[in-house]
Amino acid sequence: MAQEVNLEGKIVYKCEKCGWLYRRGKIAEKCQAWCEKHKSCNLEIAKYAIKIK
Ligand SMILES: [Zn+2]
Repeated sequence: MAQEVNLEGKIVYKCEKCGWLYRRGKIAEKCQAWCEKHKSCNLEIAKYAIKIK
């Protein structure tokens, strides 16, 4: 289950493995499942990540 995080007043979802944030919980869960299995990031998923300055 992806972790909910409050980012500047908005709820976003965090992959607990790689730490990237996503607007959609489903995507964060996909990322987390991928990270657990492959120990690397999937660029098809990563393109949905929220960029943080
Ligand atoms: Zn991840």
